[in-house]
Amino acid sequence: MKFICFIISISLSLGLCAQPAVTAKQVPTNKKPVLVIHGGAGTILKSQMTPEREAAYKAGMMEALGVGYNILKNGGTSLDAVEATVKVLEDNPLFNAGKGAVFTAAGTNELDAAIMNGADLKAGSVAGITTIKNPITAARAVMEKTEHVMLMGKGADDFAKSAGCESVDPSYFFTEARFRGLQNARRNDSLKSINELVPKQEASLKQASNNDYKYGTVGAVALDSKGNLAAATSTGGMTNKKFGRIGDAPIIGAGTYADNATCAISCTGWGEYFIRLVMAKSISDRMAFGKQTLKQASNEMVMKKLPELGGDGGLVAVDKDGNIAMPFNTAGMYRGYVDKNGKMVVEIYK
Ligand code: ASP
Repeated sequence: MKFICFIISISLSLGLCAQPAVTAKQVPTNKKPVLVIHGGAGTILKSQMTPEREAAYKAGMMEALGVGYNILKNGGTSLDAVEATVKVLEDNPLFNAGKGAVFTAAGTNELDAAIMNGADLKAGSVAGITTIKNPITAARAVMEKTEHVMLMGKGADDFAKSAGCESVDPSYFFTEARFRGLQNARRNDSLKSINELVPKQEASLKQASNNDYKYGTVGAVALDSKGNLAAATSTGGMTNKKFGRIGDAPIIGAGTYADNATCAISCTGWGEYFIRLVMAKSISDRMAFGKQTLKQASNEMVMKKLPELGGDGGLVAVDKDGNIAMPFNTAGMYRGYVDKNGKMVVEIYK
């Protein structure tokens, strides 16, 4: 017996047995690329949308998908694709990220973003930055040019600028629509505090504490032709946020996650709940250890666990085989994909 073991171990070390020379993280090449995006979840109702506005959102998503998929189609990496895709959405004032970021209670814009590479689990994120045009590029710089994962506030702004990211005056992020959104949020939030003092007005409290008029966020996940997954998320956070509040988007494992062994995920919604559920990593773990499919894992987390806690929102995800999931428990979610067959789809409502 000892002799047989000895022979086997010698054969293995000499490479005589037919052992495939791949590590767990390496995957076959020539996969069909897939790209999935979101532009935020919330109370997005057809009845409240004009045809022009709907067309503008769809055009914005199609432009972003086109830019990202072009990279994938030409053999580019999922990391490059998700960054480029998110940059297009950040530059579009319709979405709550970059140019269209929502306002804090103090009337400023504080941006969060994260990016993750599924091949080596490298990740970078920035939180509460105020002067970088494309926060997703700053997040990538954190990943590639520092030994850290997460930078915040002025330090993150200073680092990103020194790393070559385009910096802008904070006034760049001012948009009329988001400023009006802040006024509405202030009104609703003061109504909520009044209701909290008067418990019998429960019905209106419920209405006022429904936070989803404040949402937004953009994100992209991709599978490239080498089988590598990547995820990117960028947001202005939630309207009227206070005290340096940070949401789930820049927290690796909560709003953003990618692992070649399972899937890539980008979330949108009421961030506090996504943080408490460690949303993205929980889905990956359900796949890795619970042997669930992407669809099962993401549905259970978004359609069951999230509302059980009282949270809402959605996510986009792609697994290592190119399967797509886009569950959400709100009225709508701006979302789109280019699937394995190159078919492009954008959707808004349930
Ligand atoms: N999840 C983001 C946050 O909580 C907001 C959003 O997705 O709209 O900051």
